[in-house]
Amino acid sequence: MKINRNFDNLVPNYLFAEIAKKTSAYATAHPEQKLIRLGIGDVTLPLPRTAVQAMKVGAGELSHKETFKGYPEYEGYDFVREAVAKYYAGFGVKIEADEVFISDGAKSDTGNIGDIFGADNTVTVPDPVYPVYVDANIMAGRRIVYAPGTRENRFLPMPDESIHADIIYLCSPNNPTGAAYSADQLKAWVDYAIKNDAVILYDAAYEAFIEDDCPRSIFAIDGARECAIEFCSLSKTAGFTGVRCGYTVIPKELVRDGHNIHALWYRRQATKFNGVSYPVQRAAAAVFSEEGQKEFKANIEYYKENARIISAALDELGIFYTGGKNSPYIWLECPKGMGSWEFFDYLLENAQVVGTPGEGFGSQGKGYFRLTSFGDRENTVEAVERIKKLLG
Ligand SMILES: *Cc1c(COP(=O)(O)O)cnc(C)c1O
Repeated sequence: MKINRNFDNLVPNYLFAEIAKKTSAYATAHPEQKLIRLGIGDVTLPLPRTAVQAMKVGAGELSHKETFKGYPEYEGYDFVREAVAKYYAGFGVKIEADEVFISDGAKSDTGNIGDIFGADNTVTVPDPVYPVYVDANIMAGRRIVYAPGTRENRFLPMPDESIHADIIYLCSPNNPTGAAYSADQLKAWVDYAIKNDAVILYDAAYEAFIEDDCPRSIFAIDGARECAIEFCSLSKTAGFTGVRCGYTVIPKELVRDGHNIHALWYRRQATKFNGVSYPVQRAAAAVFSEEGQKEFKANIEYYKENARIISAALDELGIFYTGGKNSPYIWLECPKGMGSWEFFDYLLENAQVVGTPGEGFGSQGKGYFRLTSFGDRENTVEAVERIKKLLG
C-alpha cells in the first residue's frame, strides 16, 4: 500500500510546541516571576448568556419523545441559515438562507473545500497567514504561490497580474497580521479572480472585529458572487471555539469548469459530514438574535480595548505594527532588528511576557511578532507597562 506522499512535503510546525517548551522551562527556573501570556490565540470570555440558554432549551427538547431530533440536515437547520442571512442583511449584504452551509467550524471548511477542486490547480496564499490553507493544499498536492505581505504593503498583498492562480485564499481581517482589506483592494482581487477564472476562498473569521468601513464580507464587493466562497465562524465572534459552529456561504450562481460549486459542496458535505448538533445550532441562532448580538459585541469590545492599550504603547515606542484595530491581533516589527525568536526570548527573559514569533505563520513573518488581545485587562495593562519599561 502507499500513503499519501504529499504528507512528506509538509513542513513540521513546531511553533506552539516550542513556545510551550521555552515558556515552561523559564517558569520552572524562575518560579517567583509572574508570566503574562499575550500569545493566546483562543478566546477567554464566556459564551453569551443567550446562547447558553438556547443550548439548554435545545438539549431539553432532545429529552422528550415529542421534540426529539436525530440527524440534522447536512447543510444546517433553516432557522440558523435564516439567522445568518439576516445577520448579513444587518450589515448591508444580501445572501440567501439556502446559500448558507452550517458547519462545525471554519478550519474544517477552509481545508475540506479542496475536495471539490482538482489537484492540478495553482493556489495563491498570503504570507503570513493562518497555516491551515497551506497545509491542506500541500496534502492535496497543489502548487502554492505565496503573495508576500510586507511592511510596504502593510501586510495586505495585492494580486500579481503576472501569475495565474486558480484558487485564491484571502483572510481579512488577517490572522496573524490583523490587517483588513478595504473595499477597493478587495475589488482588485475580485477582478483578478474573474479574469483568471479563479475562485476566492474568503475567510471572514474576524469580521465581527471590524470597526471602520472595511467590508465585513467579500459579498459586499460587486462581482464577488461570481467568484467567491466565504467562510465564517462563531469561534471568534461569540466564543464558540470549544462549542464548534461555523458557516460557509456559496452563491448559487457560482460555476466553474461546467459545474455548480454550491451543488458540489452539498454533495461533498452530504457524503462526509453529518451536521452540527441541534443544541449547538439553537445556540448559534441565538447568537444572531438582537440580544445575542448585544452580548457578543460587548465581549469583542473588551478584547478591542485590550488591543487599543497594546497599540497605544507601540505608538508611543515608535514601533511599526499592523492590526490593533479591526482585529484582536497586533503584528509588530521586532525592535532593534531582532529576529522573531530572538525577540521572543528577550521579551520572556526581560519582561516575562509571552508572545508568538511571526515566522511561525510564513517566511514573511521573520522579524515580526504577534501579540493578542484575548488576555484579561489587568494582565494586558501590566504586560504593556513592562514592555514600555523594557523598550522605552
Ligand atoms: C480561529 C480562526 C478560524 C476559526 O476556526 P474554527 O474552526 O471555526 O474555530 C478560522 N480562520 C482563522 C484565520 C482563524 O484564526
